[in-house]
Order: sequence, then C-alpha cells, then structure tokens
Amino acid sequence: MLDADFFRRWMAATAASVDREAERLTALDSPIGDADHGSNLQRGFTAVRATLEKDAADTPGAILVLAGRQLISTVGGASGPLYGTLLRRTGKALGDAPEVTEEQLAEALRAGVEGVMTLGGAAPGDKTMVDALVPAVDALRDGFAAARTAAEQGAEATTPLQARKGRASYLGERSIGHQDPGATSSALLIAGLAEAAEA
Ligand code: ADP
Ligand code: MG
Repeated sequence: MLDADFFRRWMAATAASVDREAERLTALDSPIGDADHGSNLQRGFTAVRATLEKDAADTPGAILVLAGRQLISTVGGASGPLYGTLLRRTGKALGDAPEVTEEQLAEALRAGVEGVMTLGGAAPGDKTMVDALVPAVDALRDGFAAARTAAEQGAEATTPLQARKGRASYLGERSIGHQDPGATSSALLIAGLAEAAEA
C-alpha cells in the first residue's frame, strides 16, 4: 500500500531532480521555446516542497491536490496549469483514503493525464508532456521502474516529432530535431515515483 509518506517522498524526489535538471530543462526550452521551463518548474516545486513541509496534509489525495494548487499558482506559462491539473485531478481521484494501492494510483494518474489532454488539447504525438505521461501510465501496470523507463523513452521519442501544441508549434518544421522540455520534465516526475518506491 502507498501511504501519505510515499506521496511526500514522490514530491520531494521530484523537487530534487527538478533542481538538479533545471538548467537542462531551460536549455531544451531555448531552441523551441522561451528558455524558462527549468526556472518555471524549479519555482513551482520549491513552493510545493515548502508547502508540504508546513502543511499537515495527511492523505495521498490531499497531498497531491495541495501540490497541484501550488504549481498552478506559482509556475505560470503553459506548464503550470497543466502540471497543476495533472496533480489535482490525480489527487481528487484518490479521494480521502489514507492508503492506496498501486492499481488505484495508476487509475488516478490516468484520470490526471486525461485532465491534461482535455485542458491542453494535446494528443500523443503532438510533442508535449503527454508523450511521456501516456506511456508511463500504460506501463504502470508493470511497476514504477517500467513507468520510469517508458516516460524516458517517450520523452526521447519527441525529438523527431513536429510540435502541434504549445509555443514550439509556432516553429512548424523547425521544431523537429529537439527533445520536448515538458516531456523531459514529465519523465522526471515519473522517475520521482520510482525513487519514492525504492526509498
Ligand atoms: P511556456 O511554453 O508557456 O513557456 P513552459 O516552458 O513552462 O511553458 O512549458 C513548455 C512545455 O509545456 C512544452 O515543452 C510542452 O511539453 C508543454 N505544453 C505546452 N503546451 C501544451 C499543451 N497544449 N498540452 C500539453 N502540454 C503542453
Ligand atoms: Mg517556456
């Protein structure tokens, strides 16, 4: 079973990897964006970490809803509302259970990813975070490590694609040949799950 501590570890691991990888995320966002993705997410996950240290949220659902709300209010850009929706929807789907199973988390994350797709209008293949998140959710049935690998492969597979959503889509064919920053950060989020499970 996955308890509130697991979800706190997940958010903390993601905050740490976003800190480590912020420069890389911003560098990826420079040829096909406006070079702010790393700093956007760093600001967001720093706020998530600070809030979770103060707040007594003590169920998996409450922790994710709180984290999502922080991302929406601090990240800005396209990715803030999208990541915020992902975590809030996932949290809401978990309800107020004190512990959840891996299957329940997989189902809730699927609802979260559907929320992202509804809000942003992106489908797999559009060169966005959806290209890492959808394969990750599909692979979750085989465990967290499989989900991490699927998300990383999904992010890498965005390189040859032409962007059809978000700022990168303004570049048309010139968006080809660059890995999508949001898919890359989504792979960090999913890797955080695997780290939380290993701890
Ligand atoms: P902005 O583009 O506003 O500067 P960020 O740089 O923080 O925001 O995030 C860019 C990332 O957001 C992209 O790499 C992409 O993965 C994701 N993204 C942008 N638009 C969408 C969308 N409509 N649906 C899903 N993801 C999107
Ligand atoms: Mg940007």
